[in-house]
Amino acid sequence: MAYEIDEVLIPEEELKKRTEEIAQEISKDYKGKNPILIGILRGAFVFLSDLIRKMDIEVEIDFMAVSSYGNATHSSGVVRILKDLSENVRGRHLIIVEDIVDTGLTLNYLIRNLQAREPASIEVASLLLKEGCQKVPLKIKYLGFKIPDRFVVGFGLDCGQRWRYLPYIATVKKV
Ligand code: 5GP
Repeated sequence: MAYEIDEVLIPEEELKKRTEEIAQEISKDYKGKNPILIGILRGAFVFLSDLIRKMDIEVEIDFMAVSSYGNATHSSGVVRILKDLSENVRGRHLIIVEDIVDTGLTLNYLIRNLQAREPASIEVASLLLKEGCQKVPLKIKYLGFKIPDRFVVGFGLDCGQRWRYLPYIATVKKV
């Protein structure tokens, strides 16, 4: 199946502004707490790197890579850890940094997995949330944008490894 970029959904300036606002919120909430921001590879790396450069508190970063069993467009909720954290997070304040929450099954798995490691707290920062698509109740403390149920790329998000480098969020269409 071939795809091409359809339309820009969130322009670069809006992404920049909202990312800065979230960075300020996190800085205020976590002052003196030295949180670990956990970027979920690969999609969240752009959001994470923009976020930390606009924060004015000390933070650490770590990464996890997960793959969801299922096909390209449907998450099954059964998650395989491809890369685990490098650090011990017991007693630490954690912020999971995600690119997009669709069904929420991946995030639900990650929260439960991290909870078992006995951190001091866990919150979530997600750039995007597909409205009305969640299959499990989730609390996303820091949310960039709610979007309609469309497949999106750019700002770290891909379609078959393409278009992660785009500085904006765009929809794709089949050609
Ligand atoms: P969930 O478990 O919430 O259904 O799926 C979350 C993961 O599915 C995201 O981290 C992302 O990797 C992928 N995903 C869901 N929707 C989209 C989308 O519109 N575009 C892209 N590129 N990935 C998506």
